[in-house]
Amino acid sequence: MRYRKFGKLDVMVSALGFGAMRLPTDGNPHNILEEEAIKMIRTAIDEGVNYVDTAYPYHGGNSEILTGKALKDGYREKVYLATKSPTWLIHNPEDFDRLLEEQLNKLQTDYIDFYLLHSLSQETWENVILKHKILERAEAAKSSGKIKYLGFSFHDQAEAFTTILDGYDKWDFCQIQYNYMDIENQAGMKGLKHAAAKGIGVVIMEPLLGGRLANPPADIKEILNENPVKYAPSEWALQWLWNQTEVSLVLSGMSNMEQVQENITAASRSGVGLLGDEDLKMIDRIRDRYNERVAIPCTGCSYCMPCPNHVEIPRNFELYNGSVIHDDIKGARHVYHNFFEEANRAAACIQCRICEDKCPQSIPISEWMPKVHQMLG
Ligand code: SF4
Ligand code: SF4
Repeated sequence: MRYRKFGKLDVMVSALGFGAMRLPTDGNPHNILEEEAIKMIRTAIDEGVNYVDTAYPYHGGNSEILTGKALKDGYREKVYLATKSPTWLIHNPEDFDRLLEEQLNKLQTDYIDFYLLHSLSQETWENVILKHKILERAEAAKSSGKIKYLGFSFHDQAEAFTTILDGYDKWDFCQIQYNYMDIENQAGMKGLKHAAAKGIGVVIMEPLLGGRLANPPADIKEILNENPVKYAPSEWALQWLWNQTEVSLVLSGMSNMEQVQENITAASRSGVGLLGDEDLKMIDRIRDRYNERVAIPCTGCSYCMPCPNHVEIPRNFELYNGSVIHDDIKGARHVYHNFFEEANRAAACIQCRICEDKCPQSIPISEWMPKVHQMLG
């Protein structure tokens, strides 16, 4: 295993972290196959992984319980344990303390090494964290030894990342979605460099874009096959991240033992400078090829919002484009039906065209919405 310095902290973390959000189940995401999952986590630790990441809502609340079990028999002492405060359940300052106690109990531990405020956005930063003075609560938890390091995970636009990162001078670390397709989405490469320049450790999540970069379409595979250096598509995505000095650790949500072994092999040969100029140019070509497949030139700027009829215009377009880019209509339909409120779906568009004048890309939004719904509905 290779180890990397974690920002300005006196901590060395394994290049690979075990993400406990896609553990093996019996088909119901709440029912983790306990024996197999524990074996996977312990195998990873035996092979040198020293960072395990879970969160309050993963697997319907069962991931923390399973992680606590996996870290018994001496494994707790071998790892840095990370979990996250479910910020959407914080309605008053006391909720933070109550949830932390609940998590310590579920994890069967006295302390969390890396504690994150989960999924911060501009909205939660202002209306939860600042409003309820949660940073003061978190500092008290640090002083009492219940948490060692405080950070946040992030899902919003780049400007919000800067606001949150610069809005508190005691962050120890942060966690961002980043992969070779997301260099300009969310925090992006700019956010990564900004955090690293401040000495803040950066944990990477979604290195494979929800698994999509592990299964590229045929034309992308062709580019990979032409390269003299051969790795599996998933490993190219991981090595691209580990090649960057600003990246502290890459989390992978592993679902079976084969993935554990593959990721450990990849992490063991990882490092800054592993990829040469030709390799990096190839990744650029792959990104360009993916982007050529974009059907709707939506940048996600949200100038068209709010829609008077509650259609979440950029989210619908992002989902549609993602499904086309990655040949994954089935996955996109699943998201459309399970993670979009009915009122926010493309189907709710009544073609009023109020949004269209506001779109700097001049996208005929009202014409696209029925097409989006036809494919995803
Ligand atoms: S055209 Fe559709 S998406 Fe645009 S504002 Fe009207 S209802 Fe909303
Ligand atoms: S204004 Fe246009 S480019 Fe911006 S999010 Fe809306 S549809 Fe996309």
